[in-house]
Amino acid sequence: MKKHLLRELPSVDVISRNSEIESLSQNIDQEYLTQIIREETANIRALILKGEYPHDDINVGEIIDNIKNRLTSDFDFGLKKVINATGVVLHTNLGRAPMSLAIKEKFENILYGYCNLEYDIEKGARGSRHDHLKELILKLTGAEDVIVVNNNAAAVMLVLSTMCSGKEVIVSRGELVEIGGSFRIPKVMEHSGAFLKEVGSTNKTHLNDYAEEINENTAALMKVHTSNFKMMGFTESVSIKDLKPLADSHNIPIIDDLGSGVFIDLRKYGLEYEPTILDSLAQGSDVVTFSGDKLLGGPQCGVIVGKAKYIAMMKKNNLLRALRVDKMTISALAMTLSLYLDKENLEKNVPVLTMLSQEQCQLKEKAQRLLEMTDLKNAKADVRVETSKSQVGGGSLPAQYMDSYSIAVSPGAISVNELEQKMRLTEPHIVGRISNETYYLDVRTIFEEELSIVSTKLSEILK
Ligand SMILES: *Cc1c(COP(=O)(O)O)cnc(C)c1O
Repeated sequence: MKKHLLRELPSVDVISRNSEIESLSQNIDQEYLTQIIREETANIRALILKGEYPHDDINVGEIIDNIKNRLTSDFDFGLKKVINATGVVLHTNLGRAPMSLAIKEKFENILYGYCNLEYDIEKGARGSRHDHLKELILKLTGAEDVIVVNNNAAAVMLVLSTMCSGKEVIVSRGELVEIGGSFRIPKVMEHSGAFLKEVGSTNKTHLNDYAEEINENTAALMKVHTSNFKMMGFTESVSIKDLKPLADSHNIPIIDDLGSGVFIDLRKYGLEYEPTILDSLAQGSDVVTFSGDKLLGGPQCGVIVGKAKYIAMMKKNNLLRALRVDKMTISALAMTLSLYLDKENLEKNVPVLTMLSQEQCQLKEKAQRLLEMTDLKNAKADVRVETSKSQVGGGSLPAQYMDSYSIAVSPGAISVNELEQKMRLTEPHIVGRISNETYYLDVRTIFEEELSIVSTKLSEILK
C-alpha cells in the first residue's frame, strides 16, 4: 500500500508543470513556488509513511488545490471586507465610519503619487500639513484654527499636555467617563501631566462647584461628553454657556471633549440632540476635540478646533510629532469635510448619514426586497421580515435605538449558531446578530450594492 502510494506521488517537477500551477507561476516567484510544492509533497509523504493518507490512490487534484490555497492565503494578509448586518452604524469592531465613495477618485490621486503635504505650492517653499484644513474648518464651524492627530484620545492628550501640564483642570464627577474600555479621562490626564480636580457628584454638578475649586493653579475647565452612557432621572450638569462667564472672569479657557464630531443637528432624522461642534463653539468653548470616524463619517483621526492662540501652542508641542497624521488621513478628512459644504447632497454622500437618515418605509421596502431576492425554494428555514432596533454605536447617542427592519431567520436544518458562523466565514464576511434563537440581518447598515451578495450567500447556506 505504502509503496504504491509513494510511487504514485508526483515529483516537484511534475507538479510545477501542471497547467493550473503553471498559470499561477507567472505572478509568483519561482523559488517560492517550488518551496511550497516541496513542502506539500513532503507532508503527503509523511502521511503515507505514517499510514494516515486518507485515499487509496494519490489524489492529484487535492494536492493542486492545497498548493493553490496556500498561495492565496499566504498573500491574503491584512483587513478583509465585511458586510455589516448588525444595524450598528458606527461599529468600532467593524472599522467605525465607512468612508464616502464620492471622494474615491480624488483620494486615489493622492494615494498613488506625490502631493503637497508639507509644501506651499504658491511660494514654492515648505508648508505645514495642518494648513490644508484651516479654511475648510473656518467655513464649516467658524473656528479660528484646526489641528489633526491620530484619534480623539490623542487630541485630548495633546490639548491637556499643551494647555494644562503641571496645572489643574476642573471636571465634573458626572463626566469622568470611560470610553471603549481604554480611554479614561483621569488616566489620559495623568499621562498629559495635568492634575484632575473633580467637582460635584456623579449625578449633579452645579456652577458653584466649579467656582469653588478655581484657584491660581487652575489651567482650564473641561467638559467631557458622556458619549457611551446616559444618566436618567435626577441629574444636573452645567452647560458651556453657563460656564462661560465664570471662565471669563478668571481668564481661563473651556475645553470641550465632544467625542462624536457632528456638524449637523441629528434631530432632523428623528434622533435625540447630539451637541454639534458649532453649538459648542458658539456657547463659548475655546477648544473642542472630536473623532473623525464617528458621526462625522471620515477617517480615524482626532480633530482639535478652536482659538488660534491655543492651536499655535499645540503646533509647537513636541508631543505632536508622535501624534501627527499622514497624507492619507489629512486628504480623506479634508475631502469628507468638503462634502459638508454641499448640504443638499449630504445624506447621499456621507454613508453614516445615509444610514441614519433612512426612513421606516425605505427600510421596510429594503428588507422586503432582500427577502424576495433570496432563493428559499429548497430551504428548511423560516425566513421573514421583522421590525428591529438599530443603534448609532461608536459611543454616540447611547440610549438611542432606531426603529429598523431585519431579515429574521429561524433555520431548520442547521442551528442558529451554525448559520451565524457560516455567514461570518463566507467571503465577503457577513456579520449579523443572534437574539432569541433567531438570526437577524438588519438592513439599515447593509449598502444597496451589497444586498445581492447577502441574498446569494443566505440562499446558498440555507439550501
Ligand atoms: C470616542 C470618544 C473618545 C475617544 O475617541 P477616539 O477617536 O476613539 O480616540 C474620547 N472622548 C469622548 C467623549 C469620546 O466619545
